[in-house]
Amino acid sequence: MNIHEFQAKELLRQYKVATPDGRVATDAEDARQITKAYGGKSVVKAQIHAGGRGKGGGVKFATDPDKAAELFKQMLGMNLVTKQTGAEGRRVYTVFISDPVDIDRELYLSFLVDRVSSRITILASTEGGVEIEEVAAKTPEKIVRVAIDPAVGLSAFQAREVAFALKLEGDAFKKGVTFLQNLYRLFVEKDCSMVEVNPLVVTKTGDVIALDAKMGFDDNALFRHPDILAFRDLHEEAPEETEASKFNLNFIKLDGTIGCMVNGAGLAMGTMDIIKYHGGSPANFLDVGGSATEDAVMNAFRIILQDKAVKGVMVNIFGGIMRCDIVAGGIVKAAKQIGIKVPVVVRLEGTNGEEGKKILADSGLNLIVAEGLEDAAKKIVAATK
Ligand code: GDP
Ligand code: MN
Repeated sequence: MNIHEFQAKELLRQYKVATPDGRVATDAEDARQITKAYGGKSVVKAQIHAGGRGKGGGVKFATDPDKAAELFKQMLGMNLVTKQTGAEGRRVYTVFISDPVDIDRELYLSFLVDRVSSRITILASTEGGVEIEEVAAKTPEKIVRVAIDPAVGLSAFQAREVAFALKLEGDAFKKGVTFLQNLYRLFVEKDCSMVEVNPLVVTKTGDVIALDAKMGFDDNALFRHPDILAFRDLHEEAPEETEASKFNLNFIKLDGTIGCMVNGAGLAMGTMDIIKYHGGSPANFLDVGGSATEDAVMNAFRIILQDKAVKGVMVNIFGGIMRCDIVAGGIVKAAKQIGIKVPVVVRLEGTNGEEGKKILADSGLNLIVAEGLEDAAKKIVAATK
């Protein structure tokens, strides 16, 4: 799960990681008042779960309180398109007003879980404010990596190594080390999967502070962080994904046209591969899991059919613990409730496969039955072309 910049900065403050003052404005008048309180100037920042806001017009400088009110009105409700949102962009529901900072240098810092070393790893670079992918492509030698031993934690010498690589000096060096140590504590205690501070800035007065913050969390650990879970913003998630999570279904929205209802993530991967192999493109990935009830299957099928991009559905179930007759029952229920207007190819095999097929045949629904995975893929691609 990802959170907004203003939420990430709340966490930074809790852990004494330096970041500028800032507040969410409730309306234009509030934006004006906050800006006044910051001495008449502010940075007005659109809150969406995507980077590149600056270049897309989502981060703007207000030179006086009236200008802040005006920028607030412009940003709230705007459709913000950045390099990371895709062409459709994201609607802005929250606007954050930040106390402006005089920047001396912009640096880059992130903490992530490196899968190769299985360690929390710091990436740092003197080249901040630009995308790290760009730095990695053009000047990879300007990025330092430091992997942290989980048994020891971030040791003082490693924090100094990073501060040194960032060319921090004197007081800023000490502040940088404290910044890193506190941020590491936050990362571990809150079960983060990623924290990116870009830019980390050295101010004209020698402070080292997080001007921006992106944070992601390990979904499997959210149960023990109700404070983080409260930051969840459903506007930032595909509505089908939110709906599916209510029924404990794993739904991922993709950009193709074939809906896929599958049991098990591995089978889902195989199904998507074979659809692609035969020239089609999946509209989503819906995993009903290993032990879904008839109602869960019905909801899964309903969610797939409601997706406007879906021009056809491929049901691919390999019954083990999951029984095929339960799946068939769920499909029939869903179809009777909302009707099927697109071709549906069904491949049912395994436990109670024959019973499942009989339920489908007796239902009077117009379904295309397939024998095996390849046959199913060919049939759904042909039916949606
Ligand atoms: P992003 O574009 O989504 O990554 O948004 P950021 O929060 O990183 O802001 C983009 C850029 O705006 C930063 O890289 C800074 O150059 C600039 N910026 C943001 N806040 C301030 C500020 O308080 N003072 C100054 N001088 N520049 C700022
Ligand atoms: Mn940024």
